[in-house]
Parts: sequence; structure tokens; C-alpha cells
Amino acid sequence: MTQQTAVARQATTLRGAIDDANYRYYVLDDPSIPDAEYDRLMRELEALEAAHPELAAPDSPTRHVGARPASGFVEVRHAIPMLSLSNAFTDTDAPDGTDPDHEVRDFVRRVEQGLGVHEPEFAVEPKLDGLAISLRYENGLFVQGATRGDGSTGEDVTANLRTVKAIPLKLRGDGWPAVLEVRGEVFMPRAGFDAYNARMLREGGKPLANPRNGAAGSLRQLDPHVTASRPLAFYAYGVNLPPDPDAVIADRHSAAMAKLRGWGFPTCPQNAIARGADGCLAYFRKIGAARNDLPYGIDGVVYKVDRYDQQRELGFVARAPRWAIAHKFPAEEQATVVEAIDIQIGRTGAATPVARLKPVQVAGVTVTNATLHNADQVARLDVRVGDSVIVRRAGDVIPEVVRVIPERRPAHTEPWKMPAHCPICGSAIEREEGEAAARCTGGLVCAAQRREAIRHFASRRAMDIDGLGERYIEDLIAFDYLHSPADLYKLTLDDFLAMKRRAEERDGVIPETVKAGKIATKWADNLVDAIAASKAGTLERFLYALGIPEVGEATAKTLARHFGSLDALMRASEAELTEVNDVGPIMAGHIAAFFAEPRNRKVIVALRNAGVHWKETAPQRKAEGPLAGRVVVLTGSLLSLTRDEAKDKLEALGAKVAGSVSRNTAFVVAGESAGSKLEKAEALGVEIWDEARLLALLKSHGT
Ligand SMILES: [Zn+2]
Repeated sequence: MTQQTAVARQATTLRGAIDDANYRYYVLDDPSIPDAEYDRLMRELEALEAAHPELAAPDSPTRHVGARPASGFVEVRHAIPMLSLSNAFTDTDAPDGTDPDHEVRDFVRRVEQGLGVHEPEFAVEPKLDGLAISLRYENGLFVQGATRGDGSTGEDVTANLRTVKAIPLKLRGDGWPAVLEVRGEVFMPRAGFDAYNARMLREGGKPLANPRNGAAGSLRQLDPHVTASRPLAFYAYGVNLPPDPDAVIADRHSAAMAKLRGWGFPTCPQNAIARGADGCLAYFRKIGAARNDLPYGIDGVVYKVDRYDQQRELGFVARAPRWAIAHKFPAEEQATVVEAIDIQIGRTGAATPVARLKPVQVAGVTVTNATLHNADQVARLDVRVGDSVIVRRAGDVIPEVVRVIPERRPAHTEPWKMPAHCPICGSAIEREEGEAAARCTGGLVCAAQRREAIRHFASRRAMDIDGLGERYIEDLIAFDYLHSPADLYKLTLDDFLAMKRRAEERDGVIPETVKAGKIATKWADNLVDAIAASKAGTLERFLYALGIPEVGEATAKTLARHFGSLDALMRASEAELTEVNDVGPIMAGHIAAFFAEPRNRKVIVALRNAGVHWKETAPQRKAEGPLAGRVVVLTGSLLSLTRDEAKDKLEALGAKVAGSVSRNTAFVVAGESAGSKLEKAEALGVEIWDEARLLALLKSHGT
């Protein structure tokens, strides 16, 4: 055997393993190997193909990258037009006695009459919120991909589609026709969208507006590398055999989809079969209820007559098929008018602008308020009092203002400005440099902050005071029983009963105690017990309960472990705090400022005096190793290892790998196309290492 054939065989083996892994991951949703293993196989194949260019093959999984088109996109005429479906809606305002689902029932009745069949079978599927595309395969190889465009002519986005790993470049198995056209949706899964936007915000890039725009925008990138960097997925939902629009690969749509899966196309796992109108509507409600938990965005469901012979019998009306319909969820966006812009004060004093709206029905719920997030967002959108705006309400998410309708702006409006003083307590509202939120500086003097702070303090993951609901907290503050969380531990049974009595008087309700004919005190007994029980806890819960800005459960745990005792933590300088893993300079600043504030120290002393306690531990041993105590920052991309690998290796040597450069940074490792962190390091005179120096260091320590 020559060396050449051995290498060729190795390439074939690697391609097979990667294709299988893609199939398991994207089609079966049952990954066979860990991501790291997949990356290793991919790198191995890339290296092999680079060393032996003669082995390169257009269907190699390494070719999930495309070449940049010369200019713009070429038009593609679809061999068989891409259909658009008629829509049906459920009428959420239907008067009593009328059927809110009559549009769907009418559709099913027309199908039944057309076929002379009672309760035919429908293939039912979620309607994905992405971009419809058509993929053409010749002799098993992906040759062209196009957008829907106007249905008869779309744009050639082949190069970009090649970067979507869920789209097979080569068909699996056998039995596929010489020419195959697969239709489906390219979309951005929620998790990928969230991760992408989190990264953009961290790196100062531009976040995507929503997953749908994300998918559409990514596919229309002129540079396929940009598309490749976006987390896109694909589900197939249709198939044609050009040039014959009536040619089929199975006798039913559902069977055709099963065949496509076998050939390597992912299909939506929620696809199902339903019988008649009742079956379709039951599916609609089931998917609607699960909608927010699905890993992808949808805007309705689609019902298609499953049997192809029945589809042909029904045919088309204008350009839409008579055998399918899209049942859409109520619109999640509506236009209304901003009547005022108020601010709401949160637990840490963050002042959130909120638009008070002319009431409007959005997705079946009356919306009167929508968040504007922060002053920057108001400025970006330029929302003004009196403006007409688009409001969006998706699932359980708080309604938000998406954009202003500029042509409806009345005359004489003014840009909105964050007020200088808190509307609740009158303290100054300040905004620190580099922070999105402006804050009321009143601390616990501010009743709004006090309510949120105590609610957080008592919450399940913090001190876990069972039964102390928002209503009681509000009344306890209103009647002056609570000035800080420490006051909770002074409350007696009589205090609770008096509070309840005063609240009932204020609200003009007949006291339950009178109605029952005896004094019911069980609830107050339970509360006193729950408060007493919360005294014995852990340092990490206590730190979380304090509500230090930016300090969540995970950070509270890390801090508790690192310092072992509250006193050690309270003594720590900002520089010492940044030595804690995952604590950056901004968070260190928040923590130091919190413990430096005399009011906070007073509350902590009062809590300890009241008997709140926990077991303190020895501080976690300082990291050991040649880089112990040194803070390292990575920037740019390294050629021989990933950012995560470099981080792991540096941490193994005792270093703390931080996300931003400060004077405490020991050195910055700058890879390819390093950006602002490198500039900052240069400005601060921090030592800068290249990849070779890092590798030499790792090598000298045997990693
Ligand atoms: Zn305030």
C-alpha cells in the first residue's frame, strides 16, 4: 500500500466520522461525541487536506465554508415555485356564541368537501420564525441554495448556506433521486441567539434585534465568514423533484420527511399527525402552551394534508395551496401611544424608564406599560412622550418598546431626559461612567429600594423566609416596621397582627379575624418561626441576600469560598477582590463600595447582633504554581489553541485569567486581530506577550 492511499483512506475515515457526528447532532439531536472531540477530528482533517491538496473534495465537511460572491447575490429562478400559505387566526375577541376558531374549521371543512373524506389526516408542524430557503442537490451533492424571494425568483445564497452545519453538503444513504429540491427554514435557535448577543454586548459589538432578523441578516451577508460565525440551524419541511411538480419520493408528506431525515436533513422534532379540525386545534394549543419552552422561535403552526394524492386533488387557488394553511398566533407587536415616561427604582437603586401606554391588546393581553430598559435605550430609540410606538410582548417576557413610528410624531415633543432626583425618596440619581443604569443614591432610605431589597433578602435562594410575601413587606414598610432587613428579626407576633389590622382598616375590608369570630394567628406564628429559622444559614446565602450590585448566587459562593469569613471579605481591597476567579474590576468596585458604605455596615452589624450566623471556614488556599497570584488577560485569536484551552492551561499554572485589562494585569497575551484590550494594555504599560512566548511558557511547565 502506498503512502498516498493510506492518507486518502485516513481522510475518508475522518470525513465519515465528522459526517456521522453532524448527522447525530443535527438530525437525531443525539450527539455521539463531545464538542472537543468533534473539533479535534475537524482540525485533523483540515491539516490533512492542507498537507495533501489533491485530497480536497467539494463534499468534505471542511467545506462548510463558502467563497465570497464577486458582488451582491445572483438571482435564481425556482424550478418549482416556493409556495406561500394562506393564514388563519384564532379570534381572541370573538363575541359569545361565535366560534373563535372558525377560520381553521372552515379550512378543514373545505378540505373535507373537496375530498369527500371525513376527518382527513394532516401533517402538522410548528411554523418556524426564520427564513425559507430552497436547497438543490444533484447526484447527492449540494449545488445551489436560494432564498424564497417573491416565490418564483430568489437570491443565490449557496456560499452562505454551505456554512450552515445542519445542511448536508452530501446526502447520506442511498435511493435519492438524481435531482432533489428540499425546502425548509434557516433559523437561529434561542440559545445561540442569546449567547451571540451576550458575546456582542461583552465585546462591544452590535447585538441582533431578534432571532428572525438574525437568521435573515446572516444569510444575506456578503462575506460567508460572517454567516459562519452566526449560530444558524435548519429544518426541512418540503421536497420536490424538478422539473415535475407532481413527482414525489413517498405517498405522504410525513413519509417523505422521514426519508429526508435518512438522507441527512434535520426536521422539526415537534412535527406530528393530526386528524380533522379537532386534532389540528388540539395540536395548536399544545404547541402554543409549549411555545416559550421550545428551543426555537415560532409564529404559529402549519397544517398540511398528509397524502400527496389528496394534495393533488385539492390543487391550488391563485398561488396558495388548498391543502395547507398557517394557523398564526396572535400578533406580538402592536402600535400604541406613549402617554408618559416614568422611572421605576429597583433593588440596587437602578432607575428603569418605563413607558406608560394607551392600553392596547398584544397577543391576547392588555398592555399598559412597557420597559425602556435604560436611558441609553430611550436615547437610541428616541422615544418621546406623545410618540406612537410599536410594542412587543413575546411570551412571559416583559413588554418592551421596539421602535417609534416617526411619521406619527406630534409637533413640539422633547427628547426624554433621566430625572435628576428619585421620584420616591428625592435622593439624587447618578450614573457612573461605563454603566448602563442610572441609580437612586438613597440606598435603604429609599422606600422603593427597601421594598425590593427586603424582598430579595427574604427570597428562597437568599435567607429563604417562607411566607413573607410582597404584600406583607409592603405593608410592614408602609407602617414603619421595617427600615432595613435587620428589622425583620425584631418583629414579634403582636407586630404582625397590628400590621394586618392597620392594613385592613386602611383598605376598608372586614378583618378576617372578626369574620372568623376568633383571632387567627397561625399565619403570624408561622412567619415569626420562619424568620427565626432563617438565622442559621451559610455565608454564601448571606452574601447573596445582602444584594450587592452584580453579585449573584455563583459569585456569592465563590467569594464565600475564597475568603472563608465575612470579615476577611469586608477587609479585602479592590485589587484583592479582582484576584478572585470571575471577579472583574467593575464587580470588585461594587463589592468594595458596598462594604465601605456605613449604612450597609450598620445593617450587617445589626443582622449579626440579631443572631444571624453561619459557619465560617478557612479561606481557600491561594492558587499555587509558577503564575500564582498573577492576573493574565487573553485577547485576539490564538492559532494553536482555543481561548478556553489557553485559559485552562494558565489557570492550571495558578494564574487568574481576567476579562479586562487593568493595572493589576501581569501580562496580556495578544493573538491575531487583537483589539481594544491590546490598546489598553499598551496605554497602561502592561507587558504584552505573543502566542510563541505563551507556548514556550506552557511547554517549559510541561503543558
Ligand atoms: Zn429613591
